[in-house]
Amino acid sequence: MKIRYLIIIVFLFTGFLACKQDTKDKSEVSSKTKAKATVPAVNADSAYSFIEKQLSFGVRVPGTDGHLKTRDWIISKMKFYGASVEIQEFKSSFLTKKDVPSYNIIAKINPEIQERIALFAHWDTRLIAEKDADQSKKDKPIAGAVDGASGVAGLLEIARLVKDHPIDLGIDFVFFDVEDQGDDTSNLSWCQGSQFWSKSVANQETKPQFGILLDLIGAKNATYSKEEYSAKMAGSIQKKVWELAAVMGKGNVFINAPIGAITDDHYYVNTIANIPCIDIIETKPSGYFSEYHHTHNDNITAIDKNNLAAVIQVVTAVAYKTSDGSF
Ligand SMILES: [Zn+2]
Repeated sequence: MKIRYLIIIVFLFTGFLACKQDTKDKSEVSSKTKAKATVPAVNADSAYSFIEKQLSFGVRVPGTDGHLKTRDWIISKMKFYGASVEIQEFKSSFLTKKDVPSYNIIAKINPEIQERIALFAHWDTRLIAEKDADQSKKDKPIAGAVDGASGVAGLLEIARLVKDHPIDLGIDFVFFDVEDQGDDTSNLSWCQGSQFWSKSVANQETKPQFGILLDLIGAKNATYSKEEYSAKMAGSIQKKVWELAAVMGKGNVFINAPIGAITDDHYYVNTIANIPCIDIIETKPSGYFSEYHHTHNDNITAIDKNNLAAVIQVVTAVAYKTSDGSF
C-alpha cells in the first residue's frame, strides 16, 4: 500500500459528530434485547503459528506454487472453522507479470444471519523488495511475515475462536489477493483483489455493517495510529475501536493520534463497496512505514507474538461486543 497525506481537520470533526449519534442509537436498541457476550482470549502462540505456516509455503506471489498452497491451506482452515467458503477468481497484471490467475477467498461464518461485519486482510506477498538495502536483492520476492501473513493470521485466529465460542453475528472473512504488487504508475495498481471484490458486492442489497482491515500487524514495537481515510470514511468505527483498545489496556499499542492517508484495501471497500471500513496498520508515529517494509527483513524475526495477539484481541472484542450490541 501507499502513503498519502491530505488535510485532515475537517473530516475528523465531521466524523466525530456522526459517531456520537451512531453510538447512542445502537446501544439503546440492543442493550434491551441481548445478553452480554463473553470475549474469548486470543492465543498468541496459535496466531504466531499461522504466520510460520504461511512462511513455510514460501513466497505467496500470485503465479507461484507457494501462492496456490497457501490458498488451499486458508480454504481448508476456514472450512474446518465452520465457514462457507467461496473463491473469487480473476486475472491480474502487475510489475513484470501479465494475466496471472488470482484469488480472493471469501469465508462466511453464520451466513444465515443478517447482522454482519467483515474482516479483511491481504494474503499475497510482494514480488520485489524495492526498499532493501542490498541492491542485489531488490528484485527478489519478500517473505512477508508482517506484510501479508500477519493479517491472515489475525483472521484465522478469530475464526478459530469463533468455532469454539459461537457468536450471534455473521462474519465475512475476506482474504484479498494482489494487494501488494503495485508500482508508482497508478494507485490502481495496488489493492487489485479488493477492487475486484468491492465491485462484486457494490450492488448487493445487504452488506456487512462495517469492516476492519488488518494489515502490517504484530511487528516488534509496532504501534497503530488513526489512519486518515479510515477517519474520513469510517470515523465512528475507528473512534470506537481505539476507545475500546484503551479500555482493554492496549492504549500503548493503539495510539490516539492521526496519521496520513494510506491507499490500502479499505479505501476501495469504502469507496466502491460502500461499506465503512477502517485500516489497522502499523506505521511509525510519523506516518511512515517501518524499516522492514518491502525489504527482506520482513521475515519471522520481525514478529512479536504479543503485539500480534494484542491487535487480534481488540478485533475479537469488537466482534463479540457487536454481537451483543455493546460496541
Ligand atoms: Zn506491502
